[in-house]
Amino acid sequence: MNEIRVRFAPSPTGFLHVGGARTAIFNWLFAKNKNGKFLLRIEDTDPERSKSELSEQIIRSMNWLGMTADEPIVYQALNIERHKQVALELLGSGNAYYAFETSEELEEQRKLAQRNKVPFKYNRASLNLSEETVKEFLAEGKPYAIRFKVPEGVTEFNDLVHGNTTFKNSDIDDFVIMRSDGSPVYMIAVVVDDHDMKISHIIRGDDHLSNTPKQILMYRALGWDEPEFVHLPMILDEEKKKLSKRRNPVSTEEYKDKGYLSDALFNFLTLLGFAPENNAEVVSKEELIKIFTFERVNKKSAVFDMKKLNWINSEYIRNSDTDELIGLAKGSKYLAENGIDFTKFSDLYISLVILLMKERLNTLNDLYDFGAYFFKDPENFDEKGIIKYWITEIKPVFREFSEELENFENWKSQELEEKLRFFAENRQIKAAQLIHLLRLSVTGKTVSPGIFEVIEIMGKDSTNRRIYNFLQKN
Ligand code: GLU
Repeated sequence: MNEIRVRFAPSPTGFLHVGGARTAIFNWLFAKNKNGKFLLRIEDTDPERSKSELSEQIIRSMNWLGMTADEPIVYQALNIERHKQVALELLGSGNAYYAFETSEELEEQRKLAQRNKVPFKYNRASLNLSEETVKEFLAEGKPYAIRFKVPEGVTEFNDLVHGNTTFKNSDIDDFVIMRSDGSPVYMIAVVVDDHDMKISHIIRGDDHLSNTPKQILMYRALGWDEPEFVHLPMILDEEKKKLSKRRNPVSTEEYKDKGYLSDALFNFLTLLGFAPENNAEVVSKEELIKIFTFERVNKKSAVFDMKKLNWINSEYIRNSDTDELIGLAKGSKYLAENGIDFTKFSDLYISLVILLMKERLNTLNDLYDFGAYFFKDPENFDEKGIIKYWITEIKPVFREFSEELENFENWKSQELEEKLRFFAENRQIKAAQLIHLLRLSVTGKTVSPGIFEVIEIMGKDSTNRRIYNFLQKN
């Protein structure tokens, strides 16, 4: 069997969309499963819309997801001369022809089709010009595009996800392969580059399905071997609409910034279309490489379910090594932007916090949202908590308890809890009344992990300082 060679071919006109990332992942998994090559081609032929920063951002996001190209990255704009050469070859072999219509004339044809409520199809007027007229027009320097001459019949291919797929050629327009300014279009560039890169499988989104017969017709006209085609299902949001950034982030980098782990996002995106045999949901990359097959890729669109992503991410956080999480937390833009300065804390302290919080985090950013108090003294105290727990008859008891804490030596959660319960019993109040206040004063919140474990980690000085501040302010 020939070598498996696949490519991911993004246009650098935007960041790496999660849909694009999913396409890259399926290419990558298939290549790794088959011991083949995964290549990257940046389709940067549109000088107005392609930006090199965006190419770099795409590559960065792919690297973050753990995917690198097995050969040097191909920049499509460097191959334009070759695309032109092939367009001329098609012209020479009679598979393409000069088309002299101006854009205004084509617009007229388009409007006419609209008025007649039929799909627009180029009327082939230029194909019917006599050889002499064509020569004359060329000699006059009349501008022209080159159109591919779609043969009669049907175009059939076996898509590895959709199965046998047939298009009637009569439904296919004689598409332009070279514009009147001499620039080749996507349709030919992609065929030439895929051929030259010896791509064996073209794996891309469903939105390209209708391009496939046109591309196959070109392979056939050029006498080139046809690759296999695989079209992946669309990704919809929970309302069954196209993913839109108004509802959820669509940029891969944004998920990184929001505290998702790269392996968790990779795992989640793979499940958008691929189902492991046992329907397992948390599956490592190594395992996915082993089990990946197009036979288990669904034709139907997949739903981007944020709840599932959060759950998968929480599972990855739970199963991550604490040192790895410390590294990620230290590198987090969000945590830094929110004023968490990890340089002020020892790795031991950070690891104890992470161990305690791990079970509660959906994302790394939750470390701030749920546990900022470990790193910053609270400035505000939950208002409802104040109304509910900071009540007249308890105030002096809590003050008294806080004084005892200042002198308490055995700063361990169990001892601290015993101390509080003993104290409460002595004063004939419920322990919970003190516990709520202890939590509120130390964290500013009404919910936290077990407060005695929290204050054991925080340490005596830090805990007492917070209680002091609380008493000053309230
Ligand atoms: N550059 C195309 C896109 O971003 C991909 C072309 C292809 O995969 O054939 O949609």
